[in-house]
Amino acid sequence: MDAADFQLTPALDAEIQRAATLLADARCAVALTGAGLSVESGIPPFRGPGGLWTKYGEPPLDGYQRFLRDPAAAWRERLHPRESWAKGLAETLGRAKPNAGHLALAELERSGRLAHVITQNVDDLHRQAGSKALLEIHGNHRLLRCLACHARFEPAAIRVDAERLPPLCPDCGGVIKGDTVQFGEPIPPDVLRGCYAAVERCDCMLVIGTTATVHPAAEFPFEVLRRGGRVIEVNPYESELTHAATLSLTGPGGTVLPRLVHHVARARGEER
Ligand code: ZN
Repeated sequence: MDAADFQLTPALDAEIQRAATLLADARCAVALTGAGLSVESGIPPFRGPGGLWTKYGEPPLDGYQRFLRDPAAAWRERLHPRESWAKGLAETLGRAKPNAGHLALAELERSGRLAHVITQNVDDLHRQAGSKALLEIHGNHRLLRCLACHARFEPAAIRVDAERLPPLCPDCGGVIKGDTVQFGEPIPPDVLRGCYAAVERCDCMLVIGTTATVHPAAEFPFEVLRRGGRVIEVNPYESELTHAATLSLTGPGGTVLPRLVHHVARARGEER
């Protein structure tokens, strides 16, 4: 759903105001975001009609095993992609810009209302919007990662010699790979630990644009609820979480989250 086509009704705005009160009262708020937020930035979902994989074909299901078997070949493919899904994905992600929802989450973090953003998206849009305390479960398509020490690198920091692939980690000598978590690849343990620590402290979780069905992110909101915390869902569509959530705001993140920032600022003004 395009945020531009969405009408904010007084009833929804009243719900957003309730959500702002919950957020303003929270000791540790955490956001969990998924593909729905990126759709509003022009990134289609992977599957389904108009999906990236529907259009360009699916990446290999054993992508990570292939990388481990022959990292040099995987790097040659990365440097000169022949597969159309890799080209299509790179072009689509390269064009995308953060939307009002990404910017609103960065603003909540800056104003001290949001401790972390956990995202399932690899598109770098939270980073571009200014979020700092970011946990990218499936990695970031722009970054590189050492498979041994898990350090992340900007591409410019790693010298890639086409004659000597794969490039090696300047810190530990481990094999460097794209940070995006491939099919068959475990979630990097440092990110997973960060997520569990954030969820354990979290007493208010904003769940935005995710159907909450993919492990392990799917469990996070339910874990917060089990501990007596609040969960606020922001999604134009009903999900498995909708009926369990403390509040469900039916609308796109690009419309709902800027209003939430507005109401949180007012709620804090009234406290003083
Ligand atoms: Zn390393």
